[in-house]
Amino acid sequence: MNVRILDYDEVINELEKIGCNPYFSKQDFYDTEFDNIKIPYYIYGKGDNHIIVVGGTHGSEIISVDFVLRLMQDLAFTKRFYDDFTFHFIPLLNPEGYIISTSMIKGILNKNASEKEIIDASLKYYLRYKKDDELSKNYNSIKNIKLHQQMFDNTSYKNIPDKYLNLKENVRKICENNKEIPMGSLVVWRGNGLGIETNRDNKYVQWLDLVKSGVKKYGSNRYNNIPDLVEGPLGKICVDLNDLDKHTKENTFLLNLIKKIYDSGKYAGMYIYHGTGGEIFYKICPDLIGEVIDINNASKYVQINKKIALNYSENTKYKTKKFEKNGYKLVENPNLIGMDELLRAMYPAVLLIELSYMGGNPLGPYADKDNNYIPTIEYNIKAFYSSIIINKSLKNEYKDLFNKKTK
Ligand SMILES: [Zn+2]
Repeated sequence: MNVRILDYDEVINELEKIGCNPYFSKQDFYDTEFDNIKIPYYIYGKGDNHIIVVGGTHGSEIISVDFVLRLMQDLAFTKRFYDDFTFHFIPLLNPEGYIISTSMIKGILNKNASEKEIIDASLKYYLRYKKDDELSKNYNSIKNIKLHQQMFDNTSYKNIPDKYLNLKENVRKICENNKEIPMGSLVVWRGNGLGIETNRDNKYVQWLDLVKSGVKKYGSNRYNNIPDLVEGPLGKICVDLNDLDKHTKENTFLLNLIKKIYDSGKYAGMYIYHGTGGEIFYKICPDLIGEVIDINNASKYVQINKKIALNYSENTKYKTKKFEKNGYKLVENPNLIGMDELLRAMYPAVLLIELSYMGGNPLGPYADKDNNYIPTIEYNIKAFYSSIIINKSLKNEYKDLFNKKTK
């Protein structure tokens, strides 16, 4: 397995190859905001246990896209679970953000960069990112140069290919309207081409004090020189605070899909993959209990999520020459920020999994091939295969929760 960094076209090419496999079927791709850029969607299997698998919610979390592709490739090869499960693969939910982030990477790494060049650049980035996190603890460093951004000083919206003209133009506008967006920071772009944070498109975030106050804020840690909650690399909250039921195109697609599968009575769970942290989000935000979900169901949903999460965590323990890892950590403090928080209150068995133990999106996960990159892919494939069996048994055990018409 080689370390690889794919741009959007290369992701689509890989998917075309996987789609030639008779076990996969290509579905209609959904349009995003700009330039007819599309969200790819594939189905594998013909069983009655339907599982949704999502990668690339955040543009810069490129390892999550890579992982979902590898998982699909493994299934194309092994043909496992075909009769028992149906997998809905959305390997790249936010292609606009992915194009923005990977265009910056291509700005410092030649398209034909060797594996060694990719790993060297990734290690340099990882170390700088880590240093920036340390330095950010010092209040005075807020306006200091960020070492990880410095690596991308020569990149800007101009690195976005001309074929994405409208996307490029919108990123240019965002950067020109907000002079505080630092040079070299587009590589960490999370949201879509409108600069809306794809995972904060959850109407209840309006309750957060930081939104209510309307005070301009900066990101945390190594991002504490990037304006937050506005269009830009970190992204704005919600499409429109005056029309809270309006979602981004990416989330509209996802919400419709999960509802359709759930209403068919075949829904068995959802795995949403993000980039870094080695963590699993499984709890339901207390603010949503009573609002989105009643208290009895909330506690059952959490029990369901926890069983799957514990099994998943158990399977992400690994030992290499350099690392000994204890399994992904179950996050005990949910907050209102995420779209996934909302989904977890609406449906059972929704987990958000933060992949790589090594941090620093987008390049950090690629900084150590043997001790991080390969184990991240391999152990998560293993964990996924093991955990979906739990999904299946929970679906049978809690028939009423998995098979209930939504409003
Ligand atoms: Zn993320």
